[in-house]
Amino acid sequence: MSYVDEVLAKVKEKNASEPEFLQAVEEVLDSLRPVIEANEEEYKKQALLERLCEPERQIKFRVPWVDDNGQVQVNTGYRVQFNSAIGPYKGGIRLHPSVYIGIIKFLGFEQIFKNSLTGLAIGGGKGGSDFDPKGKSDMEIMRFCQSFMTELFRHIGADTDVPAGDIGTGGREIGYMFGQYKRLRNSFEGVLTGKGLAFGGSLARTEATGYGLLYLTREMLKTNGIDIAGKTICVSGAGNVAIYAIQKAQQLGAKVVTCSDSTGWIYDKEGIDVALLKEIKEVKRARLDAYAAARPSAEYHDKKAEGSNVWDIKCDIALPCATQNELGIDDAKTLVANGVTAVAEGANMPTTLEATEYFQKNGVLFAPGKAANAGGVATSALEMSQNSERLSWSFEEVDQKLEQIMVNIFRNLDAAAKKYGFEGNYVVGANIAGFEKVAEAMLAEGIV
Ligand code: NDP
Repeated sequence: MSYVDEVLAKVKEKNASEPEFLQAVEEVLDSLRPVIEANEEEYKKQALLERLCEPERQIKFRVPWVDDNGQVQVNTGYRVQFNSAIGPYKGGIRLHPSVYIGIIKFLGFEQIFKNSLTGLAIGGGKGGSDFDPKGKSDMEIMRFCQSFMTELFRHIGADTDVPAGDIGTGGREIGYMFGQYKRLRNSFEGVLTGKGLAFGGSLARTEATGYGLLYLTREMLKTNGIDIAGKTICVSGAGNVAIYAIQKAQQLGAKVVTCSDSTGWIYDKEGIDVALLKEIKEVKRARLDAYAAARPSAEYHDKKAEGSNVWDIKCDIALPCATQNELGIDDAKTLVANGVTAVAEGANMPTTLEATEYFQKNGVLFAPGKAANAGGVATSALEMSQNSERLSWSFEEVDQKLEQIMVNIFRNLDAAAKKYGFEGNYVVGANIAGFEKVAEAMLAEGIV
């Protein structure tokens, strides 16, 4: 049995109740085979893969808070500090009822390679809670965030672990968490990213993941002789990543005709009106049917009632930007039958393994999330740099750096894929390019 298969078997046995984590590990280790086989003896002796798949630290804690009726509620909080070989742990906080340790471990594991790919000095981590922010008042959100930070503060710090936003954690939640951290530590430091501009946030951080997704997609298309201008794009999601992906796609001359939330989706043949979408999602925090009600060219589809989704619409480029495993094999078949040219993941692991393989077999250009959505964490690292300098850079300066980082990420993963004989396989390329630096650092740092 090869070393990779041995480790995969051990990881499966040990984490049997965590399917998302297993899916992420399998995808990564499988695609690293060429590098691992070339160094098998040393890696095995050093148990490099076993160490890579075992988080350095996992923190699980109680989060009690009081709702507006005076009733005490209890949630579970998590922080997985996965790998600090190349820098302090860095990764978002997810607030969603589906959160459990397996989701946080899958996200933390992916984060190791993504952060390495950015070329910046950041390790991998992730956190979250099964708290559901939907329908909660501002004061309930604040009380939850304060309670969450009352435990988390002792485990994080500007040079130790720097959390950020993710599903359910936006600027409002980061603000409440930062306030509580500052109060508990009596220290104003760059311990969270995605902060408000008035207290150390970076311009362009809000836009970064969506913009970065488009910079990388454009580079991937360009490398393959395709111009993004004039293309039709389907986006899923209607959150932070989706909104700014739609905005940048339109700036680059493409037409985005769909978006979705967890209850329904929109098809707007005239192209999504970003200002209206922002008003509904960021200001009113309403559902997407409000978009269709305000825009005659848009149709609203109820997901459950119709059993349909955005991938049923014919497009050249698909950008899944909602959540894990939202694009399965049937969706992949529909997209391919409709002539899709490229798929780039704005969300983390939105495409199932089977669907990814189907795209690759059918010649669809496929950019995995750990490369395509790395613009968010890259700009978070730029926010850390600005905090350390106690300076703020202009929007243009941050945006230009982001663009350059995304172009470099694509070039590096393209080169890694070619070097190991997998030209055009950007999944293999991204995993190898991300892994090499982490492996080198882990070997150099000894058995820790
Ligand atoms: P948001 O909470 O802002 O938006 C998430 C969107 O996806 C919402 O439209 C939400 O709909 C929808 N969604 C969430 N969960 C589900 C579900 N289970 N089924 C269907 N739809 C769902 O999150 P972000 O935009 O920040 O994150 C989206 C994805 O991008 C995640 O995978 C995240 O990990 C990834 N990501 C985010 C980064 C960032 O900087 N924010 C950076 C890198 C990756 P509804 O409102 O109805 O729940």
